Amino acid sequence: MLRVAESFDLSDTGRQRRANEDSRFARAPLFVVADGMGGAQAGEIASRLAVEAFEPGLADQGGLSPEQGLRERVTEANERIHALAQRDRARQGMGTTVTAAAVGEHDVAVAHVGDSRAYRLREGVFERLTEDHSLVEELMRQGKLTPEEASAHPQRSIITRALGPEPEVQVDSHTWPAEPGDVYLLCSDGLTSMVSEGEIGELLRDAGSLKEAGRGLVAAANEAGGRDNVTVVLFRLEAVGAAPAEGATAEHDATPTGEEPTMVGARPGAEDLTADAVRSAVADDEAARARRIEPRAAGQEEAGEPARRSPLRRTLVALIVTALIAVPVAIAAWLAAGSVYFVGASEDGFVAVYRGLPYDLPLGMDLYGESYVSGVPVRSLPRARRVTLLDHTLRSRDDAADLMRTLETGELGAR
Ligand code: CA
Repeated sequence: MLRVAESFDLSDTGRQRRANEDSRFARAPLFVVADGMGGAQAGEIASRLAVEAFEPGLADQGGLSPEQGLRERVTEANERIHALAQRDRARQGMGTTVTAAAVGEHDVAVAHVGDSRAYRLREGVFERLTEDHSLVEELMRQGKLTPEEASAHPQRSIITRALGPEPEVQVDSHTWPAEPGDVYLLCSDGLTSMVSEGEIGELLRDAGSLKEAGRGLVAAANEAGGRDNVTVVLFRLEAVGAAPAEGATAEHDATPTGEEPTMVGARPGAEDLTADAVRSAVADDEAARARRIEPRAAGQEEAGEPARRSPLRRTLVALIVTALIAVPVAIAAWLAAGSVYFVGASEDGFVAVYRGLPYDLPLGMDLYGESYVSGVPVRSLPRARRVTLLDHTLRSRDDAADLMRTLETGELGAR
C-alpha cells in the first residue's frame, strides 16, 4: 500500500505580473493546481473556486474510484465558475485550468482541463502524464507544428479547454499504477513556458529534498524571465505495510525532523490528526504542565522537616524526585509533540508551522521541528496580526494548514 511521504507546494507571482492568478491545494492524498484567467481579478476567483471544489476531499463520494471522484469535483467546479460568470458581468469570460491528482492505495489518478501539467519522476525517468488542451499542442498533434516551433509559438498560452466558459466541460483523466519513491509534480504553465522539460527533470533529480526542488523550479522560472505566475506542487510516495507499527511510527514522527521539510497535512494515514488525537495531545500537554509544578510541592513538604534529613540524603531524594517527575513529563511532552502544531517565525523571518510543542527540554532537546515554511515574511504582517499569529497557540494540523492557506492567499490577494 502506498501513501504520501512528503509534499511541498509553492506559488510565486513571477517577475512581470502584478497579481497571482494561480491557486493550489495540497492535502494528502489530494493535490491540485489551477491557473486562472480573466480581467479584474476574475482569474484569481476562478482558480480559487476550482481548488475549493476539492476542499471536502473525495471521501464522501461513496463507491466512486479516485479517478471518478476527481472528475466529479472538476465538473462541479466548472458548474460553479460558469454560474458565477453568468451572474456577474465583470466576471464574464473568466476561466481556469485545473490539474488534480489523487493518491490511491496502489495508484495515482489525474484529471485535468487546460495546460497545467502533471509529471512523474520514477527511478530517474521524468515523464509528462498530461496532454495540454492548448492550441499549439493540438497543432502539434496534427503534425502542423514541431515541438521546437510550439515552444516558441506566440500563441502558446492559448488554451482550448478551461473551466468556466461553458456550462459543460470535457475532462481528461487517467489512473496510473504507482510505485514507492515516485515523485509527482503538478505545475502551471508559468513553469513549463519558462523552463524546458529537460531542465525540470534535471532539477528534480538533483534536488536533495522536495523543498529544494520546488524552490529551485520557481527560481529557475524567475531566472528565465518569470513572465507568468508559477506554481508547483510536489509529492513523494512511500510504501506502508498493511498494519503499520503504530508505536514505531509515532516515535519516528515525534522526532523533530530538522532539515526534512514536509508540507502541513502531508503525512496521511496512521498519524492523521483527529479531534480525539488533538484532545488527547492537549490533555497530555496539560498533564505534563500539571506535573511540572510538583517539584515545588515536594520541596515545600521537605522544608517542613529539614532537621531530620542530612544534606546528602536531601540531594538523593531531590534527584529521585526529579527523575520520577522529569521522565514522565519528558515522555508525555514527547508524545504530545508528535501531533500538535504551532505557528512561529522561521530563522530567515518567514511565517512557519512547527510540529511539536514550543518548549525546549533540558540537555538541548527540542520538542519541535519545522514542518512548513510559508512564503509570507513576518514583517509584511500588521503588528497586531503578527502578535496573535505568532503566539505559539497549539493547533491541529488542519487548523495550522488552513491558517497558512488563508495567510498565503490573503497575502496574494493583497499584492
Ligand atoms: Ca499561467
